[in-house]
Amino acid sequence: RQPLLEVKNLTKYFNVGGGFKPKRLRALNDISFSLHEREVIALVGESGSGKSTIARLIARLMPVSGGKLLFKGRDILAEEPKHASRDYRSLVQMIFQDPFGSLNPVHTLGYHLERPLMLHNKARSAEELQARVHELLTTVDLNPAAEVAEKHPHQLSGGQRQRVAIARALAPEPSVILADEPISMLDVSIRVGVLNLMERLKEERGISYLYITHDLASARYFADRTMVLYAGNLVESAPSEELMLRPAHPYTQLLLSAVPDPTTPMTGELKAKPGAPVLIDPPPGCPFAARCPHVMPVCREQMPGRTQLDANRWVSCHLHGQGTEAVPQKAAEA
Ligand code: ATP
Ligand code: SF4
Ligand code: MG
Repeated sequence: RQPLLEVKNLTKYFNVGGGFKPKRLRALNDISFSLHEREVIALVGESGSGKSTIARLIARLMPVSGGKLLFKGRDILAEEPKHASRDYRSLVQMIFQDPFGSLNPVHTLGYHLERPLMLHNKARSAEELQARVHELLTTVDLNPAAEVAEKHPHQLSGGQRQRVAIARALAPEPSVILADEPISMLDVSIRVGVLNLMERLKEERGISYLYITHDLASARYFADRTMVLYAGNLVESAPSEELMLRPAHPYTQLLLSAVPDPTTPMTGELKAKPGAPVLIDPPPGCPFAARCPHVMPVCREQMPGRTQLDANRWVSCHLHGQGTEAVPQKAAEA
């Protein structure tokens, strides 16, 4: 089965500090993974680990420093080096944490949905446009659609606004939605409703998600697979349930121990632990070495490769087998 989206060896540097000698911050290092049709992958990791940067690079909102993006086998960066085509932008949509920030207070919700529909040629007449707007609002359970379309963003609750943001992302008929902490600013009581909506859209419209979150319980609830990011490096990937029950990487273990009860839905926010990772001139070896309770001499010298633990999971840590040899990309992404 060909993956929908393949991310290969993606790297991102930012110049920081300014002046005559800006420093290079390595936000992402050699990120590789695949997303299949109707798959939900959660991406977890503490603040600053690079989660949003991965989503922004895939959405082509900023330039990539190295690596490839394949969409249905097409080498997107080679085909569209400067800007993403309208076609790619319609297929890969992004939703953000703050639903208010992404909606313009002076415009009606109907207007917010008309724009992408027009831009992506999804309606040929005013009547069709209005019908499409109403259909989108109904799809995200905002009823009665005709009434909601006339409202302005401030007249809605946070959860309703996030539903509008989802409807807007749906307008160009995407295959992939990159959801960057879509529920973290919402009341705990309405978070499950929004996740359930996203789940239904996956079933009904065949959408795949990269679901970015601080909340491990929601990853377990919503995502087939969870990937753990540390200091710009993917360190572990496993079916979500497996990852929560039997974390293999010492960092994943630390994350889980920081959550009081990972089975209580939508409350266990991750907190950063002392010892911030080094992104400017990072030392060689394992990125987690400075904080790892199991650190060994080899860890400070060699970056651990991916060790395949079984068909569906891998870990990058010298504790697991040889670990020094990078497993072939194909096996790692099975
Ligand atoms: P959070 O959980 O707080 O949203 P994150 O995992 O999404 O964090 P990113 O926003 O991807 O993290 O940031 C990764 C690293 O890249 C951080 O060190 C951040 O300071 C840096 N960074 C991100 N965007 C820029 C930018 N435009 N210019 C310079 N540095 C940046
Ligand atoms: Fe810890 Fe070494 Fe594994 Fe890194 S490679 S997580 S330092 S044991
Ligand atoms: Mg972020």
